[in-house]
Amino acid sequence: MNKETIAIHHGYERDTQGTTAVPIYQTTAYVFASAKQASDRFTLQALGNIYTRLTNPTTAVLEARLAALEGGASALATSSGQAAIFYAISNLIEAGDNVIISDKIYGGSVTLFKHTLKKFGLEARVFNLDESSSIEALIDDKTKAIFYESLSNPQIAVADIDAISAIAKKHGIISICDNTVATPYLVNPIAHGADIVVHSCSKYISGQGLALGGAIIDRDGLLDFFKGNPRYPHFFTPDESYQGLVYTDLPFPPFNLRIRLSLLRDIGATPSPFNSWSLIQSLETLSLRIEKHSSNALKIAKFLESHPKVSNLNYPALESNKYNGLSKKYFKDGLCSGLLSFEVADKESAWKILDNTKIFSIVVNIGDSKSIITHPSSTTHQQIPLAEQVKIGISQGLIRLSIGLENADDLIEDLKQALNS
Ligand SMILES: *Cc1c(COP(=O)(O)O)cnc(C)c1O
Repeated sequence: MNKETIAIHHGYERDTQGTTAVPIYQTTAYVFASAKQASDRFTLQALGNIYTRLTNPTTAVLEARLAALEGGASALATSSGQAAIFYAISNLIEAGDNVIISDKIYGGSVTLFKHTLKKFGLEARVFNLDESSSIEALIDDKTKAIFYESLSNPQIAVADIDAISAIAKKHGIISICDNTVATPYLVNPIAHGADIVVHSCSKYISGQGLALGGAIIDRDGLLDFFKGNPRYPHFFTPDESYQGLVYTDLPFPPFNLRIRLSLLRDIGATPSPFNSWSLIQSLETLSLRIEKHSSNALKIAKFLESHPKVSNLNYPALESNKYNGLSKKYFKDGLCSGLLSFEVADKESAWKILDNTKIFSIVVNIGDSKSIITHPSSTTHQQIPLAEQVKIGISQGLIRLSIGLENADDLIEDLKQALNS
């Protein structure tokens, strides 16, 4: 089935009322038919709902659709993108381990790896996304994951997914791709060898800035990957916290299973059924929106490219962009979503443009139908020291645009007057 059809129909069996729309199962817990059934569900002898922290029928539809859209084995929805990244990493590591991360990732992920997880005893080793081969020199026997973004925010860099996957595979290390900006409509990292895909559903999947959410999608075949793999003994040795359960002994995708049975149980960053429902509505129009976001952004990139005040325009769909080849290789029809960034002279010029736009809103979000203008250095990446910011391509004059679904000519007029004022 094609993605447009999956996004609208997959994973929903009409309930007894025959509702066409997926119902919101707004409940915390579930009634068991008998004491025996309750016990069987806890011992996994019978599968079924216990408590919404672990599973919920509305959320299950969202999960089934996301897994199918990404071509994965299963999906697990979380309350935010940050929770998804935290779970995906925590599922692989313990104190003393290291992960290899791209130098071009979301600001919240930078602080998660370099500060919060560091306090838990994890070391983050940084590689230059433009030189995937540099990953190999960073690997040792304590390396548990390689983490990167397919289309990075805010540098708008495109990852060479095949090359990164090949290195991960060669060393038997899990690779995790944050596919938030590209969305499953433009690229499926798993088809290019990624083991795990994470999403912030709060962006293009929500599409109107209505609901926070996250997701983890695991690939088929991880059962064999984890069985006996000395890097990840906790998958094939008894889990004391679950009566000695061995994850690779069960006939389920083990990566998300372990998150659900242990991390979600213990930490609980679960989506509310209402937010899952909201994201299900949004997914139905993902394909239409991404096409329009991308065509609008291309028109605006072309306008900005020729503007005298604009330098270093980052939009991979432009022939002149250094990632143009990679974007054509990986992204559907070479489309690059609605995110672009560019530089003006300095911070003062950048702030003036932000303050002078009328249709664009100053917001730290992306993927909304409403166009957004952001100054990353003083907001999304403000917690990273200025010298570090420059190294990862965030200058004081950098402006990020998330192009919405308005009329492109109106947006160009707005930018024109803001740039010239
Ligand atoms: C926003 C974002 C996140 C974090 O997601 P939340 O849903 O805001 O927690 C992670 N990665 C990328 C690429 C993002 O843009």
